[in-house]
Amino acid sequence: MAHPDTPEAPASSSAASDPDFSHFGLDPTILRALVEQGYTVPTPIQSKAIPVVIAGRDVMGAAQTGTGKTAGFTLPILQKLLPLANSSTSPARHPVRALMLMPTRELADQVADNVARYAKYTNLKSTVVFGGVDMKPQTAALRAGVELLIATPGRLLDHVEQKTLILSQVQILVLDEADRMLDMGFLPDLQRIINLLPKERQNLLFSATFSNDIKRLAQSFMRNPEIIEVARRNATAELVQQIVYSLPSEQKRAAVAHLIRELALKQVLVFSNTKIGTGRLARELKKEGINADAIHGDKSQKDRMIALEAFKQGETDVLVATDVAARGLDIVELPAVINYDLPYAPEDYVHRIGRTGRAGASGIAISLMAPEEERLLAEIEKLIKRPLERGSLTGFDGGRRERPPRPRDDDRQSSGGPQAAGQRAPRYASRSRGHHEVVDDFFLRPYEPSEKVDAVVSEDAAPHDAASIQKAPKRVAALLGGGKKS
Ligand code: AMP
Repeated sequence: MAHPDTPEAPASSSAASDPDFSHFGLDPTILRALVEQGYTVPTPIQSKAIPVVIAGRDVMGAAQTGTGKTAGFTLPILQKLLPLANSSTSPARHPVRALMLMPTRELADQVADNVARYAKYTNLKSTVVFGGVDMKPQTAALRAGVELLIATPGRLLDHVEQKTLILSQVQILVLDEADRMLDMGFLPDLQRIINLLPKERQNLLFSATFSNDIKRLAQSFMRNPEIIEVARRNATAELVQQIVYSLPSEQKRAAVAHLIRELALKQVLVFSNTKIGTGRLARELKKEGINADAIHGDKSQKDRMIALEAFKQGETDVLVATDVAARGLDIVELPAVINYDLPYAPEDYVHRIGRTGRAGASGIAISLMAPEEERLLAEIEKLIKRPLERGSLTGFDGGRRERPPRPRDDDRQSSGGPQAAGQRAPRYASRSRGHHEVVDDFFLRPYEPSEKVDAVVSEDAAPHDAASIQKAPKRVAALLGGGKKS
């Protein structure tokens, strides 16, 4: 079945798009899996990356989830490893040859799922290891031998320490969503892992943005990488309507409920900057009769998966999430994204709105901006190089009186407007909150096994530099030997 999330519709795709996958020289076993997946046209990142990776070059790819990048790096990796594929049952014949590092468990799980599908008709084996779940099944899979290993950095190091994993045969390293890995403070873990790998290897790094930190990281371990960029769908997607409403922060909750009702939104992802804010907003929306749930780090891995699945299945209309909890989730065809808070990092805005308007469908990205967030908006506009449309919340009374859903054809002209709304006494004004709450620190930690982790394993803190956990994540220069020594 063709995936609806084909990143760029063929009609609008660049001239670089190829008619089909056949001319890459991919093995019939790989092509067979693609036919099964219903992939007929390579996405732009695939067109560009596949030949370069097959040629053995290091790659820095500017692409995010939803562009088809997973197949973009997995297909050529499979092709390169095929000569080593074998049907032996001896683990020694299946050493880890390709290591794919992911920032989050959800992304690791998703990528592993894709890798297994693409490798289905080959003799190459794959598995995934991430934290928050029992190590034993992972250990068993590793002991049986796999050529492709998908992992989050912390759990990978746990396995290295348990001596259930040897990385001396790794030929290809993939760092996926590298910008997010740095944001999450994974740099020390990454460095440790890179030091465990053979020097002679191919490196592929994917990142939604190429910040100076990413460039510095790349310089530290890549060899003359080929830079591959695909048009950033989210920054350029005309199909996504982007609109900002200014209003006092205490009216935001009511505004979210109002918008969801007014626009009859279903399958809307709402971003909050904080874990606390995420749970609170979901609860309050539920009280208003809106079918909402939250996904954040206080939930167990299992509960996060359940919440996500319910959202994907359309059983939940609204999923409130922090950036990292939502990061990399392959949620297709989202008609709307709401920024309950403007993100602190402008790049996160790009990530967030990249989830809408996929596969030629139109989407809307709504941002709610409190006066104290104007600076954040200015940074976003600078990054995307254009001003965002300012809107006024027609019919919104500032949360004084929430109405039940109503027909869409009524008084659209009346312009309550943000200022007008702001002048009314907000009913929900209470403690000041806004975006100064504690940042969702769960996601700033490199890796934290959940309470369910296998008791055999000593918890992660010591091996993974407990000190780094508390520190600000952006320490690339210092860790790479540059920057200020403090
Ligand atoms: P990714 O960016 O790798 O997470 O991929 C996003 C989605 O696009 C996934 O659900 C893939 O299954 C799908 N996809 C990737 N490549 C293609 C392709 N060439 N044609 C159709 N769907 C694709």
